[in-house]
Amino acid sequence: DELVSQIAAGEVVERPASVVRELVDNALDAGATQVAVRLLAGGVRLICIEDDGAGIAREELPLALKRHATSKIGSLSDLESVATMGFRGEALAAVASVSELHLLSRTAGQASAFLLDASSGELRPAARATGTTVEVKELFFSTPARRKFLKTDATEFAHCLEAVRRHALARPDVGFTVWHDGKLCEQWRAGTRDQRLADVLGEDFLAESVAVEHAAGPVRITGRAGIPDAARARADWQYAYVNGRYVRDKVITHAARSAYEDLLHGHRQPVYVLQVSIDPARVDVNVHPTKIEVRFRDSREVHQAVRHAVEAALSAPRA
Ligand code: ADP
Ligand code: MG
Repeated sequence: DELVSQIAAGEVVERPASVVRELVDNALDAGATQVAVRLLAGGVRLICIEDDGAGIAREELPLALKRHATSKIGSLSDLESVATMGFRGEALAAVASVSELHLLSRTAGQASAFLLDASSGELRPAARATGTTVEVKELFFSTPARRKFLKTDATEFAHCLEAVRRHALARPDVGFTVWHDGKLCEQWRAGTRDQRLADVLGEDFLAESVAVEHAAGPVRITGRAGIPDAARARADWQYAYVNGRYVRDKVITHAARSAYEDLLHGHRQPVYVLQVSIDPARVDVNVHPTKIEVRFRDSREVHQAVRHAVEAALSAPRA
């Protein structure tokens, strides 16, 4: 089972940023309002994610590390959320199989927190307020072939920060802090969507972008589109979300790009944050274990909606 988990880990855990993505995802699922991300050496030596969410009960702690163990599919009525959320119960088991993982958690009802050492299975009382801390040390220590593929600490840190950024843009109602090697790098307070855009992408982006708002049948597009004349060329500032989840999707990327066509010159890239809301029955999220890719039932429908939404926003007269 250890081997199976390590193979699964190859799909889910590519580098420290993959761990950050999954752990922050869990913190948000647990209803956290504050998420702290602490990294050492680009996340290779330590990834520590602290949240103030619901916590994991003592007897559930060992379960959380089992493959296909998820607390998120409880009843028949959850079948719909299975469709929305995709693969379940893989992440913690995968991460634990390629690192030294400690799980420290306390639910509101418990008198104390409990600490589980994933490698020894030892479970003991510990101190903590309600919420969860996941510590991941020495990622890939037992799989040197994977470790060899990691880049410099600075590069791995940049990827980790990007993973947090993707979550943070979708959840302005949650506060985030990011620490690297003991230094506070980012602090994004809970607030409005615009405030979060300004915090994460800069005041310039907010000032030099237009609101996107468009509904077409079962598809609704909202967000902001940067005006490329003013925006600095940043190839990676294209954020797309489907039903709240960050995705990399060719249909959306192509549609947005074609809306920008007349505005792009030189090496300029479109800059945008787009939220696609769509009937969950019209999108398949079970394409990839990390859920970063989706398949639309009718990709033309989505393409047209995104293209129209961005075109309308960019051509509207600005104040
Ligand atoms: P999934 O998120 O798909 O359920 P994971 O392997 O990521 O699978 O997590 C397994 C289980 O561990 C979750 O279903 C949840 O019950 C529990 N869990 C993990 N992280 C947290 C957290 N930060 N707060 C509360 N529960 C958590
Ligand atoms: Mg998860």
